[in-house]
Amino acid sequence: MPELPEVETLKRALTPLVLNKRLLELNFLRKNLRFPIPSSELHKGLLNQKISAITRKGKYILIHAPDGSLLVHLGMSGRVTQAPSMKPMEKHTHALFKFEPNIYLHYIDPRCFGCLLWIPKGNGHPLLDGLGPDPIDQEITAQEMKMAAKNCSTVSIKNFLMDAKRIAGIGNIYACEALFAARIYPKKPARKINVAQWTILLSVLREILQKSIVAGGTTLRDFHSTDGSQGYYKFKLAVYGKENKPCPICNEPIKRIVQSARSTFYCKVCQK
Ligand SMILES: [Zn+2]
Repeated sequence: MPELPEVETLKRALTPLVLNKRLLELNFLRKNLRFPIPSSELHKGLLNQKISAITRKGKYILIHAPDGSLLVHLGMSGRVTQAPSMKPMEKHTHALFKFEPNIYLHYIDPRCFGCLLWIPKGNGHPLLDGLGPDPIDQEITAQEMKMAAKNCSTVSIKNFLMDAKRIAGIGNIYACEALFAARIYPKKPARKINVAQWTILLSVLREILQKSIVAGGTTLRDFHSTDGSQGYYKFKLAVYGKENKPCPICNEPIKRIVQSARSTFYCKVCQK
């Protein structure tokens, strides 16, 4: 699943390709993804318009034009690739964009959980409104997190980190790796994490996300593999997916548990 670093990588790759460029052609090959694609609004709002900025909020990318923004989400399996023409190159290509002078971008999403939506200028959007602060762009303080977790009586720190209303865009892999790096037991109640622990946790989280962004590269050509699922986590994982493998610190076998239907990997010796 595309995670926050992949989306940041996509933003950085898109910027030199489309910033200050006009969208010359737009073609949708299906009517809906996770939501219906507002084809006529997008044509009206984007065609022949110059892209003024590309921004990211959590795992959403916003491509800004004078009258509004295209909201892009990659869902479970989506990606954007650069192509030589408006002709679909592969199955599951749902949207085709031509920017001046000859930049072709294809939106591909086998599972169709992503979205392409239009936000008129000056409007908010329900998908963005409830998102917590962004761990890459914004300075989140340990004190703020401590306060936010104060009333979460039973929520574990792992589930707290993965709640986009608390912090935007932290997926399962990053939550597991950050908790290991900060030596925090994933089931520990979020309200019991003290300011010193939050300081370490936020710092390792940022470090892991930054490393992953660097590893992600900056071109859309080498950003993906054909199934859209690999090539993302090029940084070395310490615990994620390593059940029964030795902990890199103490050699104890890594444990796997399930929290909110997602696998959590941790070391029972190192994480308290
Ligand atoms: Zn260990």
